[in-house]
Amino acid sequence: MITLSNYINGKLVPPASGNYIDGVDPSRGKVFSKVPDSDEKDVQAAVDAAKAAFESWSNLGNEKRHDYLMKIVEAIEMNLEKLAKAESLDNGKPVWLATEVDIPRASSNFKFFATAIMHFASEAHNMENTAINYTLRRPIGVVGCISPWNLPLYLFTWKIAPALAAGNTVVAKPSEITPYTAFLLSEICAEILPPGVLNIVHGLGGKTGNAIVSHPEITAISFTGGTKTGEHIARIAAPMFKKLSLELGGKNPTVIFDDCDYEHALKTAVRSSFTNQGEICLCGSRIFVQKKIYEKFKTDFVQKVKEIKVGDPNHRENYMGAIVSKPHLEKIEYYVDLAKKEGGKILTGGKRIQLEGEFSEGYYFEPTVIEGLAFDCKTNQEEIFGPVVSITPFDAEEEVINYANASVYGLAANVWTLDLNRAHRVAEKIKTGIVWVNCWLLRDLRTPFGGMKSSGVGREGGWEALKFFTEAKNVCIKLS
Ligand code: NDP
Repeated sequence: MITLSNYINGKLVPPASGNYIDGVDPSRGKVFSKVPDSDEKDVQAAVDAAKAAFESWSNLGNEKRHDYLMKIVEAIEMNLEKLAKAESLDNGKPVWLATEVDIPRASSNFKFFATAIMHFASEAHNMENTAINYTLRRPIGVVGCISPWNLPLYLFTWKIAPALAAGNTVVAKPSEITPYTAFLLSEICAEILPPGVLNIVHGLGGKTGNAIVSHPEITAISFTGGTKTGEHIARIAAPMFKKLSLELGGKNPTVIFDDCDYEHALKTAVRSSFTNQGEICLCGSRIFVQKKIYEKFKTDFVQKVKEIKVGDPNHRENYMGAIVSKPHLEKIEYYVDLAKKEGGKILTGGKRIQLEGEFSEGYYFEPTVIEGLAFDCKTNQEEIFGPVVSITPFDAEEEVINYANASVYGLAANVWTLDLNRAHRVAEKIKTGIVWVNCWLLRDLRTPFGGMKSSGVGREGGWEALKFFTEAKNVCIKLS
């Protein structure tokens, strides 16, 4: 049994209450860790430490902060294997995926923002012969960062790194479902960062998360998670005039035109549907295929999905591991049942997988493809966030743009066509914050990242993140 600690004022400490929550290994369905069940007292201690550290951290200068963050990069890279195994144990994802994607991306986040801050500059506006304006961008103070369970260290560091680089001090909470790598990061940071600069408080969303969001001295909140939680957070934070960045849910369309590079589209559609058990906010869950190639694509796609191996996350040949938790597994089952009631036909999958031996209590689900659902039914409207996709034919470009946009969400879209004009037209008309054309999950960390409509407010990435984590002040000097 592993007991996790909070990281407050540079020290690894138990929760004030002495209470812990069970941390479960979803691949075996067994408790393996004790996670601090923190409350307002722990959050207050973290805020006090962050406040005390702010003055010196914010005045340290970009180069010195860069140097600190680059030490974290080195430490993450040195601990790659340990962190990848921990991520897999906590989340159920395959170890190969955590090794190739999650953990390298966590160190890239630190590397990217450590170097970005060295190049961060602000604007000047010259009023000819009258005045000069220049914009000062100063760190905000103590900021709150709250992240979800699907890409635990990857998304946690995506918030913490720009916040720290910009000179803020941080009170952060990872998901209580997957806190292990955030704890390992705190062990790393305790050796590197000055006390109080980064504070990590573990616990339940409704208790620890709520205490962070409603704390009057935390003046900005960067949150990634579900839309309902985002709505709740906005209700608390907005009347307190906190700066808010909300990265929320999605129901992303994958649009495949008959003039696409067929093999590339087919292969990538499998990846964009089922990587990380479909538990990536950017996964496509509604696949629309143009009629001329629909039957062939459907047959080939289903064949490829049937070949996906699901099981022990430690084995390289398994493309999918376990679903993150029992309640999430049950939610996925609920939606597959709903799909059947809504007239959907299961082309493949649709059931739990019962493994043998040590994994017999684990939470596994078949990659699932459903046909025959109306574009506006609940299954095609609500976020399932698991290995379940629908497949639907379409005739014309305008029609599929309507299907793609028929959602309260607007996070990401995936378009497949070799017609350049069409690519531009469709990308322009789809209402999502990100459109990938002939690729998926190709990320440049400089680009704005975020969603429209119920998928969020604000953008992360590149200068957007550094602007969010700083307060702009215009100074206007009149020329005599
Ligand atoms: P949740 O909204 O349930 O939780 C996200 C985080 O918020 C967790 O740390 C959670 O803690 C915490 N939290 C929950 N309630 C509160 C509260 N009242 N006040 C403050 N914090 C709270 O999301 P999930 O963890 O289930 O993550 C899945 C969701 O995240 C999906 O909807 C997915 O689309 C979205 N997501 C969006 C991304 C994007 O970039 N747009 C990227 C990745 C995921 P705890 O876990 O302890 O409850």
